Amino acid sequence: RCMSSVSIPPPACLLGPLEVPLRYMFGPGPSNVPPRILAATARPIIGHMHSEMFEIMDDIKQGIQYAFQTQNNMTVALSGSGHSAMECALVNCVEPGEPVLVGINGMWGERVAEIAKRIGADVKTLIKSPGGYFTNEEIDQALAKHKPVLFFITHGESSAGIAHPMDGIGDLCRRHNCLLLVDSVASLGGAPLLMDKQNIDILYTGSQKALNGPPGTAPISFNDRACKKMFNRKTKPVSFFLDMALLSNYWGCDGKPARGYHHTGPVSTFFALREGLAILAETGLENSWRLHKEVAEYLYEGLEGLGLKLFVQDKNLRLPSVTTIAIPAGYNWREIIEYVMKHHQMEITGGLGPSVGMVLRVGLMGYNCRKTNADKVLVALADALKHCHKSKV
Ligand code: PMP
Repeated sequence: RCMSSVSIPPPACLLGPLEVPLRYMFGPGPSNVPPRILAATARPIIGHMHSEMFEIMDDIKQGIQYAFQTQNNMTVALSGSGHSAMECALVNCVEPGEPVLVGINGMWGERVAEIAKRIGADVKTLIKSPGGYFTNEEIDQALAKHKPVLFFITHGESSAGIAHPMDGIGDLCRRHNCLLLVDSVASLGGAPLLMDKQNIDILYTGSQKALNGPPGTAPISFNDRACKKMFNRKTKPVSFFLDMALLSNYWGCDGKPARGYHHTGPVSTFFALREGLAILAETGLENSWRLHKEVAEYLYEGLEGLGLKLFVQDKNLRLPSVTTIAIPAGYNWREIIEYVMKHHQMEITGGLGPSVGMVLRVGLMGYNCRKTNADKVLVALADALKHCHKSKV
């Protein structure tokens, strides 16, 4: 009868309290957020265009430049998870019809190939099964064959547990007149990476791994070669939200005196990102890399002590931030991760994409990267191996 009266009642679930369990976040991310960063997210909101906010964004920019080891002016944090950075890089630097070469040795190359296809790129792939990597010779040959405008490679392949060797790839890309795009979502702060020295043209990461922020922001940086390509396009990028010409103004990277409104940045999540970058700056990159390696090696020893086998045989290829364990013979991987969650309030995960059914994954990143946490993982896994079903062979 009355058009203005509501017919849908308030949902009963929302009339109860928010309940969030305390968990050890020892999977491939998100990681636990330390109190200092949690406290930052609880600070009062200010406007996304207030001068104090612009100062915080400038701090973030410098923090990213340090973490990436770059002097690139075109360095910002995107208002979105790692995927927004994947899309931002491709949508700005590649025009429809252009050839792109994607290195696929796990989940992330697959995703980037899918994104590149959606924007109409002519996608070529270099493929290895999870655990594999590409030699510079293979990359050189593929670049010569396909003549791409951009080559993608994942530095920290979190689905396989590989830290891809990076030396020389940037030089190869220059020689073949192609941009090098690198994903460091799972490796930044956990394994050595030097954007400028390694001639990486575009680099991105996420807030929720070794930076220990909540998920939802993604640092990204473009060097002059990448800027030259993306700011001399024939067509505008199809995404307004991820258009770097607009974002560079919002982040004060375009040299113009005033910053314009583009979108409302996630103010609280930027506070958190600032603090995550501040902790990395205080710790020092080299100390952070060393700590991740030490804790990972301590974990490897303990895992082998339990009779488990590491998925990546070559020690030098292992990603220190995310360890992959071969699924022990006779066990159901789902039962193991469910057991650990139920009895130890701990997240470890199975594989992802092409590595599903091949691996268990343990991530000890940033604030979580402590030997005492490795001990907790080892206790939980020993317990799971004892209690989970083992099929009789
Ligand atoms: N790249 C890598 C290597 C990752 O590990 C992840 C997240 N697991 C992503 C990209 C995607 O990031 P997000 O889930 O934050 O979108």
